[in-house]
This record gives sequence, structure tokens and C-alpha cells, in this order.
Amino acid sequence: MRVDGEELLQRLRYATRLVDEDYVVRWAVKKGLPAFLALVSVILSQNTSDKNALRSLRLLMDRGLDTPQRILASPEDMVLEALRPSGMYRQRLATLKRLSQAIVEEGLDLEALCRKPTPEALGELTRVKGIGVKTAEVFLSAYCGHPTFPIDRHIMRITRRVTGRDKMGYRDASDFWKNIFPPQHYREAHLRLIDVGRQYCRPRNPRCGECPLNRMCAYALRRVIGGH
Ligand code: SF4
Repeated sequence: MRVDGEELLQRLRYATRLVDEDYVVRWAVKKGLPAFLALVSVILSQNTSDKNALRSLRLLMDRGLDTPQRILASPEDMVLEALRPSGMYRQRLATLKRLSQAIVEEGLDLEALCRKPTPEALGELTRVKGIGVKTAEVFLSAYCGHPTFPIDRHIMRITRRVTGRDKMGYRDASDFWKNIFPPQHYREAHLRLIDVGRQYCRPRNPRCGECPLNRMCAYALRRVIGGH
């Protein structure tokens, strides 16, 4: 089924609001922080509140742990203390150290990623263990303006239902939406789809009747045919 991205966006605008997502990295970018700290802010934001991620980011900055060189040269306890408010601090420490090593010892240049083709930039970032595709895509979009379409748990659930493909993976889900919306609207569509997941496409009892995606949704169609 061919979907008109502009028309779908209009329906989304009517039925959803722009959620406040990726707050910490947008804060970092607005403040003009360097690429390293912008990426750290995305790493700190995984599975925690914006408030806690921001507390850890500020602690890292206040204690001068704001470059890969300083992360590697400082005592682990000091870095751990700063990471503690964001939770999962040992895991975050391991990722931060691997990222710092990739930059200092292997020549990973975060600024240069902004000038590379998106797939290449993604490939370089996700080679760092602990940096997943979603983290990399959020950073590349927020810091560099790369046309990525990050998939969170809400959008993944929606995409599987819309396509009827229960086992669809991250890359296919991201490509599905990228093929529908024009690149200049990726970010807005991403934010509005998250709201679809919160308001309509809930894990249980989705509200298909009012959902702006119901005309293109395999799950909704099955419900109609099945008479549920
Ligand atoms: S129509 Fe129903 S199943 Fe499909 S995306 Fe909307 S709420 Fe989810």
C-alpha cells in the first residue's frame, strides 16, 4: 500500500502532540557542548529520566571529566560517582571508557562523523561496544543533523502492528518510516509516532478507531475483519 507521507503527517499533526524527547542531548547541543559531551548525554539518557541523566552530565562537567583524555586519566571511583545519579553506572562507565579509548587510541573523530554519509557514520559509532544503533542515530540526528529515524519501543510496537510483521527488526522498522516521510520531517514524524504509541497504540487495548494510522494498519484491518 502506497502511503502519502505529507498527508500522513497532516493526520499525525491533528491527532498527536510533539513529545519532549531527547531533552538532554538537545540541551547539550543548545549549550554548544562538544561532540563528545553530546554523545555522552545520549549514553546517560538510556533507560533513565532526563533529570537524572542531566545530573550525571553536570557532575561530569563540574569535576572536569569532560574529555575522553580526562575520563581515561581519572580514577574510576571519581567517574563512577558522577555517573551514579543516572543509574546502571558500571555499564555506563564501561561504555564511556570504550568510547574514550576509541577516540584517543583508535582515532575515532566524532566531529568528522557529521561530514560522512549517514551509513558510514553509523557504522563507525556502533563499532564501539555499548553504543547501539538507537544511541548512535539519536546523536547523529541531534548533533550532526543526519537524517536518521530512531526507533524506540513505542515506534517498534506500532511498526510491527502496522506492517503485520511481528518479528520486524530495528533497521527494517527505521527504513519503513524513512520510505514514507520526506527526510526534512523525520524528526517531527519520529516525535509524533512516539505520541501515537502513548495515546493510541498502547501495548494493551490499542485505540484503533481513533488512531491516525488506522487506514494503513494491518492490525486494525484484522480487527475490523475479525469483528473485534
Ligand atoms: S491502528 Fe491500532 S494497532 Fe494500528 S497503529 Fe493505530 S492503535 Fe496501533
